[in-house]
Amino acid sequence: EFIADKIAAGEVIERPLSIVKELIENSIDAGSSQIVIEIKNGGKSCIRVTDNGSGIVSDEIELAFERHATGKISKLSDLDHINTLGFRGEALASITAISRITVYSKTADSELGTKLKMQGGTTVSIEKTGMNTGTTMVVEDVFYNTPARRKFMKSDAAEATVIIDMIQKIAIYYSHIAFRLINNKQTVIATPGTGDILTTIQSIYPSYRQLIEIHGDYVHGFISDPGSTKSNKRGQIFFVNGRYVSSSTIENGIVKGYGDRIFSGHPICILFLEVNPETIDVNIHPNKKEIKFLHEEDIVKDIENAIKRVINS
Ligand code: ADP
Ligand code: MG
Repeated sequence: EFIADKIAAGEVIERPLSIVKELIENSIDAGSSQIVIEIKNGGKSCIRVTDNGSGIVSDEIELAFERHATGKISKLSDLDHINTLGFRGEALASITAISRITVYSKTADSELGTKLKMQGGTTVSIEKTGMNTGTTMVVEDVFYNTPARRKFMKSDAAEATVIIDMIQKIAIYYSHIAFRLINNKQTVIATPGTGDILTTIQSIYPSYRQLIEIHGDYVHGFISDPGSTKSNKRGQIFFVNGRYVSSSTIENGIVKGYGDRIFSGHPICILFLEVNPETIDVNIHPNKKEIKFLHEEDIVKDIENAIKRVINS
């Protein structure tokens, strides 16, 4: 019971952003190499996520919408050792409770796919349909049955902005997946899906031209040359063990690394850190991104040295 409560606390669907995040995570878990996301009105009226992943077996499609159907977590201690994205078995159940959802899904060894319509958590219709292998989730009328939560959503533009911002980060991290985001019929993100991090970054932020690669024991990534005038706080993006985080420790390492060669503002630093999961404290609540390192000085030194090696040469 306790585990379920602890997990459920982080599973509240607060806004369209949470839905988009969960659907994309499922598409990634399904081994997709292409993920297309379409949103309308900041995701309030429609969110559509199409992937070319494994698909869901037709017999199991309704099960996917039940709570803890997957049962991937058995012990509380497992929460500290989670590396895969899908572990809670709750997202689809939570989403279907507050929206109208239509799923199209087909596995490779099935000739026809399945189309399932649900509303407020119950099945409206289920039928066979011709389609490519993969899954499309269409979520409409978010919070149609919970007016209180509907009221707390921001403007369409504000909801769209946070979604775009999140997908930019996911697309950088999963550079081997081609992402496309269409906001009100306009393509706003299109990454190549080649696995090349630098070209992925530049497809998202075309102005980030002169980036240099850094490597340390824990860190690798791309930073702006101190000679370049490019400077942007939004260009500081950190991932620790695959999770997008904010961290004052990492920021310290950057400041020390650039030293007196730091220019006004903030250098672009897109950094990936891999550390022993037992040496970090990640709040399991998905909306809290601040991370704490057990060995802060080691992290600062590693980033400092990695930056100094490239900007002093
Ligand atoms: P979780 O991802 O934690 O298992 P979800 O509620 O997000 O829980 O999804 C339930 C299940 O539905 C997943 O475990 C997976 O088997 C299936 N599923 C959901 N989305 C997809 C998808 N895009 N492709 C393949 N399977 C999916
Ligand atoms: Mg999931």
